[in-house]
Amino acid sequence: MMQLSEIGGHLTARTGIDDLMEDLFKALHSGDAGLCQLNGGSPAVIPEVTELWRRSMGELVRNGKFDVLVGHYAHPGGDPAFIRALVCFLNERCGWNLTPENVAITQGGQMACFTLFNMLAGPCPDGAVREILFPLCPDYVGYQSQSLCGGVMFRGIRPGIRMLDGHTFKYVIDFDRLDIRPETAAVCMSRPTNPTGNVVTDEELGLLREMTSRAGVPLMIDNAYGPPLPNICFVPVTPAWDENMILTMSLSKIGLPGTRTGIVIARPEIIRAVVSMVTTSSLCPNNLGQALVTPYLEDGTLERVCRETLTPFYRGRAEFALSLLPKLFGESIPWRVHKSEGAMFLWLWFEGLPITCQELYERCKSRGCFVNPGHHFFFALPEEGEPWPHRHECIRISFTQTEELLRKGLSIVADEVRKAYSRS
Ligand code: PLP
Repeated sequence: MMQLSEIGGHLTARTGIDDLMEDLFKALHSGDAGLCQLNGGSPAVIPEVTELWRRSMGELVRNGKFDVLVGHYAHPGGDPAFIRALVCFLNERCGWNLTPENVAITQGGQMACFTLFNMLAGPCPDGAVREILFPLCPDYVGYQSQSLCGGVMFRGIRPGIRMLDGHTFKYVIDFDRLDIRPETAAVCMSRPTNPTGNVVTDEELGLLREMTSRAGVPLMIDNAYGPPLPNICFVPVTPAWDENMILTMSLSKIGLPGTRTGIVIARPEIIRAVVSMVTTSSLCPNNLGQALVTPYLEDGTLERVCRETLTPFYRGRAEFALSLLPKLFGESIPWRVHKSEGAMFLWLWFEGLPITCQELYERCKSRGCFVNPGHHFFFALPEEGEPWPHRHECIRISFTQTEELLRKGLSIVADEVRKAYSRS
């Protein structure tokens, strides 16, 4: 029998992200167009966006750059032309003062987080075991199995819940509970948040920046959906960065998840460490996405397409999905939805749900509707802590699918939820 190391054990432990990626792949390749794939973070295929990448690829093939891209190893720090274009774009749009020394490229945002978490937290030479602190749980399930030292790396804070109307709520950071400790290596969150679609407000972010900077602890913002690109935000958000912050970005949500391209924006000392980790783990990042994007970053096309097409597309899908809920769920069950402020998901909460969200997920799956059970997203809040039924009462729904599949999938969810309440 294969003997796993401790690290091997941590990295292969089955977590929510394994189910999610398997479900995603199965649904995509099943050939069954009737399956409702309301799970996963795959971006929608938006023809105007795909067309950009087709054109760019055609040009790379025509001008011979393609041969160099696939035939040579790239620089471990990323493509200088892409980094120059990105720095110029971010400085212009966000008023920052970045130089190329503030940027590293990784094999996807996922790898950026993996690298940063394990670089900063875990067992340290001074004997301390440092942690990544999530100021608001739930957060992105993909972080869950990234720790090379197991669950001790992550600690999360239970949020406040603010009801906005009878069916809409918003999580807020509970600053009374938020304690940055001597062993806190970094404070981290996704914004907009996967899974909830929450956008932590500029005021909350301002307070976090103050607290982390006072404590001398970096603030990591996973900006996979945020401004200025792809800017899948439905409320005004000010992009934020300073020397105490680490911003991660990704090309995935502008329709290029297959190119595995992540971006880290941080002070040079952190960037140098990330580049060393990239070199050690994979020699260099993938260069295709960078090459596809550079011309459209330089001439403003990408920003325009995001503003005119991509953001409105996701806003439209969010509004459509939200518009279905009152009719499907009615008034007889206590359904609630997190205010949809960005990203690609609705986060539904069924207070007092008589079955767990895992059971609900399985019942929906057996009827061809894939959702994400919510408990996985609370990975940083230990189950053995304060009991909190809420963590088993939520599911995540992706709204990237067609309106027809969204309607069909949400009807199955509503039906199963209604059955669960009526049999209790
Ligand atoms: N961070 C968040 C919040 C995400 O939702 C995702 C993917 O869905 C990732 C990181 C990983 O992105 P990438 O495809 O760039 O690895």
